[in-house]
Amino acid sequence: MNIQYTLNYAIQLDAQDPLAHMRDHFSIPKQTNGDDELYFTGNSLGLQPALARECVIEVLDAWQQRGVKGHFEGDYPWLPYHEFLTDESAALVGAKPEEVVMMNSLTTNLHLMMVSFYQPKGKKTKILLEDHAFPSDHYAVESQLKHHDQDVDDNMLLWQPRPGEELLNHDDLYKIIEQQGDEIALILLPGVQYYTGQVLDIKTITAKAHAQGIMVGFDLAHAAGNLVMELHNWQVDFACWCSYKYLNSGAGSVAGCFIHQKHCANTDKASQLNRFSGWWGHDKSTRFKMENSFQAIPSAEGWQLSNPPVLSLAAVRGSLETIKLAGGITALRNKSLKLTQYLMDLIQHELADSIRIITPQQDHQRGCQLSLMVTVDGLDGKALFNALEQNGVTTDWREPNVIRVAPVPLYNSFEDAFHFVRILKECL
Ligand SMILES: *Cc1c(COP(=O)(O)O)cnc(C)c1O
Repeated sequence: MNIQYTLNYAIQLDAQDPLAHMRDHFSIPKQTNGDDELYFTGNSLGLQPALARECVIEVLDAWQQRGVKGHFEGDYPWLPYHEFLTDESAALVGAKPEEVVMMNSLTTNLHLMMVSFYQPKGKKTKILLEDHAFPSDHYAVESQLKHHDQDVDDNMLLWQPRPGEELLNHDDLYKIIEQQGDEIALILLPGVQYYTGQVLDIKTITAKAHAQGIMVGFDLAHAAGNLVMELHNWQVDFACWCSYKYLNSGAGSVAGCFIHQKHCANTDKASQLNRFSGWWGHDKSTRFKMENSFQAIPSAEGWQLSNPPVLSLAAVRGSLETIKLAGGITALRNKSLKLTQYLMDLIQHELADSIRIITPQQDHQRGCQLSLMVTVDGLDGKALFNALEQNGVTTDWREPNVIRVAPVPLYNSFEDAFHFVRILKECL
């Protein structure tokens, strides 16, 4: 047997992996027999880092012991708590610190960003998104159009895969931008498509859109903590991401938001940008004078509404510290490319006639996640997903026909990937 497809080889890869020790910083759920689950669902809900737990308990303790003084006292007072997350969040997406803020949740931030970056004028009224956008993104766009009294059918442009294909073809998008650019006000696309795992070319899309005077925003739910990005250099107008997927900050935890520097300085009256405002976006030096003249902070923080949920920010802080310990996003991506390639090779070697990987295979077109389709006649993908679960493997099922598997560089091992393919083969 080819050594490359043996358990010993997987064990050897783990022994050479400089990030192998990071698994010890996480709680891995257990199977009923006491073994670790084979957890491949970090693309949906990342596992708990020990440091996230520590940081949350620290905030609970401060609240217990200090009451209201917790806002100002201790190593991590709550008043500026979101600022403790800024540098690491910026590093994660390739932003300047003043361009990022952790606030609200993902869909809320998409709405806030569209309030500012979707301003239909004259002929330029359309929003372009992809046909299979995450439902929440689709609903958000649809309701923004309605809010502006724009006819939804006429103004929601959908970029679709070609008939019979699953993946989006960038050339098709560029053609739409070229031909209809004068009617498009905003493009909202994912960094990584959640169903197929396809990575979109953020840099080129942004450049092509800007050439036609179109604003561009990205939903980075599946890209943050997964890909290396340069949002600032790529001139992206805005981006939003959640923190509970590859950022391991717990269900519904506080989300991230990027607003390019060139828009941040655009404070209230002088600016063309609308904004929904709240007191946490107001100039810090006068916020507590409680006057009624809004002065936006000239950074992404100017879009904050409320004083943030500090317990949740604490989980994000612990999680970002964990990523920093691992050497940051570049170190994660380096391992991720190897780990996912290894899983892909194994599946293709062992299961080529029963499983088709719809995720693009080239490094720059994929992140951690592989989307698998069962190609055995009469075999239902959902039944296979259930069988995997009964054998201690946690993956994620997406209608109509895909099992998503995401080996995550922070806590998944090459041995995990080996056992996944072994069990998948047995289940089949
Ligand atoms: C996970 C995900 C969401 C979830 O939105 P919430 O507001 O966090 O509930 C939205 N959009 C995309 C693309 C996602 O992947």
